[in-house]
Amino acid sequence: MIQQIIKKINCPNCTTENEVILWEKININMNPDLKEKLFDESINNLECKNCGYKSRIDIPLYYNDAKKHYFIYLVSDFPVGKEEEDKLIKNLNDKTMTILNQEYNNKVRVVFEYYNLLEKINIFEAGLDDRAIEGCKILARTQLKLLEGRGAFAGIEGDKLIFNFFEKEDKEAVKSFEIPKAMYEEVKQLIANKDKENGHSFRIIDVKYAVGMLMN
Ligand SMILES: [Zn+2]
Repeated sequence: MIQQIIKKINCPNCTTENEVILWEKININMNPDLKEKLFDESINNLECKNCGYKSRIDIPLYYNDAKKHYFIYLVSDFPVGKEEEDKLIKNLNDKTMTILNQEYNNKVRVVFEYYNLLEKINIFEAGLDDRAIEGCKILARTQLKLLEGRGAFAGIEGDKLIFNFFEKEDKEAVKSFEIPKAMYEEVKQLIANKDKENGHSFRIIDVKYAVGMLMN
């Protein structure tokens, strides 16, 4: 299976043409060292051979863990409207038909931002349900009045789930907040009662999903 592609990219700074090797498929069981590289952003970069300018190249990228059975597809265009969303989901389902099976039950996601890909990996690596995590984030943020910006799951400490909070476009977290594991379990149960969807179809599990589950 070809996992890398070579692309010719003109430097955004000096327009020199560079050949860049880009990963578009990450099968983490085959290339375990790529996880760290994803997190420190040392793959899919352009470093211009002429002027040294560095920038990240955003191409559709998938991350598959065939042992823990989760699959995340990063695509850069957020679908506008239900019709476009359905089309995208169908397209991704068709593309991955031979890879995904029932063992991936409810752990197949599409995300639209690089940081969302990293967060989903953190969530599934911790053995958590991202639907409940999104629910917890909404409840905590409402309570803490953190309405602008975004919260991201960062890890587990004892009986607490730790989240980082970023203001708008900031890359560094400005604060963090925590949620008791017991609350997570409660939210998970609440959502499980409402969300009966199973299987290995792609889903968008984000703030909009959580609002639909908890606020209606
Ligand atoms: Zn350059």
